[in-house]
Order: sequence, then structure tokens, then C-alpha cells
Amino acid sequence: MIVYITGKSGSGKSTIAKALAQKLDYDYVDVDSIVHNMYKNLDVLRRVEQIFGDCIYDENGKFDRKKLGQVYFSKQNQSAKKLFDEYTLDIIGQELHKKFKDNVIIDWAMLPITDFWARGALRVLIKPISDDERFGKLLARDNISKDYLMQREQAGLDYNEDEYDYVFYNDYTDIMQVEFIQKVCDDIQNGVFLTILGTQSPYAKPSNACPSYLLNDRGKCLLLDCGSGSHRFFDFNLLNNLGIVISHLHRDHYNDIYNYMYTSYVFKNQKKLINPVNLYLPREPRAILEDIAREKLSFSNIHNIEENNFYKYGNFQFEFLLIDHSPDVLTYATKITINNKSLVYTGDCSYSSRDRLVNFSKGADILICESSFLREHGFPTICNHLTAYQAGTIARDSGVKKLILTHFWPEEDVMKYYNEAKKVFCNLFVAIENDKYLL
Ligand SMILES: [Zn+2]
Ligand SMILES: [Zn+2]
Repeated sequence: MIVYITGKSGSGKSTIAKALAQKLDYDYVDVDSIVHNMYKNLDVLRRVEQIFGDCIYDENGKFDRKKLGQVYFSKQNQSAKKLFDEYTLDIIGQELHKKFKDNVIIDWAMLPITDFWARGALRVLIKPISDDERFGKLLARDNISKDYLMQREQAGLDYNEDEYDYVFYNDYTDIMQVEFIQKVCDDIQNGVFLTILGTQSPYAKPSNACPSYLLNDRGKCLLLDCGSGSHRFFDFNLLNNLGIVISHLHRDHYNDIYNYMYTSYVFKNQKKLINPVNLYLPREPRAILEDIAREKLSFSNIHNIEENNFYKYGNFQFEFLLIDHSPDVLTYATKITINNKSLVYTGDCSYSSRDRLVNFSKGADILICESSFLREHGFPTICNHLTAYQAGTIARDSGVKKLILTHFWPEEDVMKYYNEAKKVFCNLFVAIENDKYLL
């Protein structure tokens, strides 16, 4: 799990981030130290000098970060500031990518304006109860004037509380911090995780696969779709306790089901598998369902999906909504409820299903919504798929807490989908293979 901790300078985020990393045994990455090291590179300094001039050096010709801060935060430098942000965010981004491992806490005030913000992570905002106390700490810590501090504050980020899993109001007392850290740890250690296994259509690439999403309740798992190539990202140790739900029988959503079935047959023979894999499949197209059912080399049970039925697998409860997508192919949205949390996955969807989908998704914690298109692609408002903007309006109108966009065209930049949906919905993510979310 990746945990982002952010907040204003002096909010106490580093103290909390380090304590949380220690308690969870996660790696801790302080992005400010990456920035500090960045300025040891002469090429970087030369480029920054090109942008702001030689006022970034002190009287002895030595780089002075405080002087850089002064020119950066002065109001006259908006275009230079933009150039500087683009240049440095790119360098920091490259460094940060190297640190993206399974379990890491990333501590950085600037996270919400980076592309990283669009990725699966637990987002934590630290907000001081009183700015006076924070200012006092900053003046002492950074050895700066009050004028400079105020200039820095005005240029700082605004943090939108709706974008966070946790907002901690820091009163700088140990007791509150310990309580908060314990709560986050408990949630991570006992929670249900969503892992993204596939995000693109119609074909898989070396680092991407067709749609597939795994929910893991401490070893008991439910897989939503298994499009082409997605089984590469699945941990087959989990096969013993697996249910697979297929939203509709289009190849990009079910192709890998044969890999799971054949592996279940091999594992059963090797006595590694005790429980059959449970498959939940639409009844139509009949020929495809029959082809799957004919697969002899498999250790699995097939259940038919019916609208208005309730299903149970482990602690997962789920139900289905028939939606418009493609003629002759029954397509279902799925709602999963577990531990008083809920997740809705749209499958593929036409905007003509909008009202039913909004109703079905009301108040869900996570909505995984297909967004095959961008408005610039120029498709009609009602077609077989949704645009990112339409996905955003469905999330907004159903009042879901979090929206994850998926089902991207492989040659398109995913940040375009993010920016389009962001116009209507703020707590937004783009699905990326192996990224994890806490439900
Ligand atoms: Zn599809
Ligand atoms: Zn489809």
C-alpha cells in the first residue's frame, strides 16, 4: 500500500509520517530530501539559474535555497515559477518512481499538484488546529523573517479535504497523534484491499492488461472481470479462496478465465487446491457461456448472474444491475458490500443507463467506472461507452466517495481522462496496474 501524507509546511506531517512508517514497518520517503539532493547537481543549478537568474546564489557564489525561495515566492515571477515547477517536478517524479514499492509512505507538501496524485494510494492530510502555533514553529525551524513566511504562505497550496481518506487536525499533542496513527494502522491491517490488475482495452501491453480488479479480504478474494493479460498480475496463491465475477462476455473482460480454470485443474491435481473457484457469469451470449461450461480441465463452479438476486462469497455480498452496453451481450454493473463498505463496478456502460447507475451507486465508497472515451474523441453522447466526463457526472450525482476511472484506450495518455473527469468530481483516481486502494 502506498500512503501519501501531505499538508502545509509545519503541520507536523513528517513526525506523523515517520511514526506511521515505523508502526507499519513501511519505507518512509521524505521528498524534501530528494529536493535537497537535486540541488547538488550542477546541471540542475544551471537550469534554475537560467530560469530565475543569478539571484539564487549568495554573495560567495554559493547556491542559497532561501534566496531561491524569495525569488520563487515573489509575485512578479509567475511564468518563471511555472517553468521551474515543470522542470523540478519532472526530476522529483523520476526519483519518486524509483521509490514506488509495495509499502511506502511518501511525505510531501506538493503531492496534490503532481500526476502521482492520480494514482492509487491512501491520502492523509495533516491540518494544524492553529496557524499561530504552526507559524511559531516555522519561524524557529527555518530561521526566516515573518514577511518571508507570509509570502510563502500566500503562494502555498490549498488542500481540498474532500480528496482525503483521513484528515487529521493536529493540536501537536502526543496523545492525539498516537490515537490517529493507531486508527490508520488498524484500518490498513484489517481492511479489504482493492488491487488493479487490468485497465485497458481492447488489447494488453507489457505493463498493462485488459480490465480486472481484485478485492482481497485477508485472503478471501473476489475478482471482477479477468480481461486479456490480467492474470499476469494475479498472485495464484490466492486461487484457493477465489470468486470470479464477469460483468459481460466480451473478450476484453473474460478472456483470461480459461487460465484460471486450467490452473485450478492443475493445482487440484497437485493437491494445492481444496476449494473450487466460483464463477459468476451472465447467461448470454449462450454460446460463450456454454464454451466456458464445457471446459473439462477445470475445478470450478458456475453460477448464473440474475438481476435482483443477492449473492454471497466469504464476507462479500453482491448484487447486479443490468445496464445498456452492446446488443446481444448481457452486461451487469456489480455492487459489493463488505464490513459496511461498498464498491460499485460499472463494467462497460452506455450513458443511456446513467439514471439507473446513479441510483445503484448511491453513497458507495468506491466507484470503478469505465471511461473509454474523452470528449475530444467526438463520439455521440449516447454510445456503447462513457467518456471520462460522463463518469465524473455519475460519480458526482450518486454521491460516491471515490471514483476510479478505467478501461482506457491503450494509446491515450491516462492523465487526459483524469483532467477531463476532474472538472466535475474531485476525489478521483486513474486505474494503474498493481496500484492498491483500501476499501
Ligand atoms: Zn470492454
Ligand atoms: Zn464490452
